[in-house]
Amino acid sequence: MSEMINRSQTRPVRVGNLTIGGSDELFIQSMTTTKTHDVEATVAEILRLEEAGCQIVRVACPDERAAYSISEIKKRITIPLVVDIHFDYKLALIAIEQGADKIRINPGNIGRQAKVEAVVNAAKAKGIPIRIGVNAGSLEKQFLEKYGYPTADGMVESALHHIKILEDLDFHDIIVSLKASDVNLAVEAYKKAAAAFDYPLHLGITESGTLFAGSIKSAAGLGTLLSAGIGNTLRVSLSADPVQEVKVARELLKIFALSSNAATLISCPTCGRIEIDLITIANEIEEYISTIKAPLKVAVLGCAVNGPGEAREADIGIAGARGEGLLFMKGKTVRKVPEATMVEELKMEIDKLAEEYFEK
Ligand code: SF4
Repeated sequence: MSEMINRSQTRPVRVGNLTIGGSDELFIQSMTTTKTHDVEATVAEILRLEEAGCQIVRVACPDERAAYSISEIKKRITIPLVVDIHFDYKLALIAIEQGADKIRINPGNIGRQAKVEAVVNAAKAKGIPIRIGVNAGSLEKQFLEKYGYPTADGMVESALHHIKILEDLDFHDIIVSLKASDVNLAVEAYKKAAAAFDYPLHLGITESGTLFAGSIKSAAGLGTLLSAGIGNTLRVSLSADPVQEVKVARELLKIFALSSNAATLISCPTCGRIEIDLITIANEIEEYISTIKAPLKVAVLGCAVNGPGEAREADIGIAGARGEGLLFMKGKTVRKVPEATMVEELKMEIDKLAEEYFEK
């Protein structure tokens, strides 16, 4: 395999006000679950996703009603909107005309050359990119017949086939995904793609399952790729509220130090030395910091025996003691706080640190 192109070496592609590719920055994407033509419900869901940290949102576009809703949705949201179209070039043209920031369509599935050219020319005129979405479950016949079943090579060949159609029309604002629900297959396909071309990659493990199992499966697959330097946008696909997809994606980016705008919780596993109701407190603080946009490390520890020392890298934290808590910063105890108010005091201190961070 030739050498892999890491995320910062990919070709920069504009999507709305964001530049995907050409840097180490990774963007979190999610997809709405509402009927796109139901503008009220779709906008409400997108605003919840934005609040959770979603940076690009995709909507399904199965019919003209959905396509003609795009401009109204766009007026009421701030993040870039991607419109997902399967075969119908007319829907693509309407979505582009309505102001889509990117469309997801596979040019090889559009049909006659004149239709492909119409879509490409419209995208060019508006300066928006096209995402090619290869999916192991719907790989074209020629690549399935060649290998007998969906393989990473077949998926990359499919991507190259669609890429060539666009490149032949002198269109290069391309983003590619190679999704599979089999983690090993997806990882291999993305690695081979990163060696085969320099277009930005949108990562995803498709149909990964429910919140619990799907998060683990996504973390295994996406984590492998992120640590290898692959990926410019990512979506965690879950059979759950899409806000959960965004939360899981944020956690993943934090783990790989690829997010500079999120707070992290450190909490101990608890043991026989525990002095406070740590699990309840940890969950409450996790929820509290989920919307904080500063890279703070917050620790909650069950006792003070190993507590503050164990969490030396934390900016702030509390450790349980009998009937009280110890508030500490950078491994040093700052003051004692009564058990009844220690969570509130910790929240106040977190807010202060976040404010200081933004004043810097
Ligand atoms: Fe046990 Fe205390 Fe360590 Fe938590 S911080 S695991 S309660 S020793």
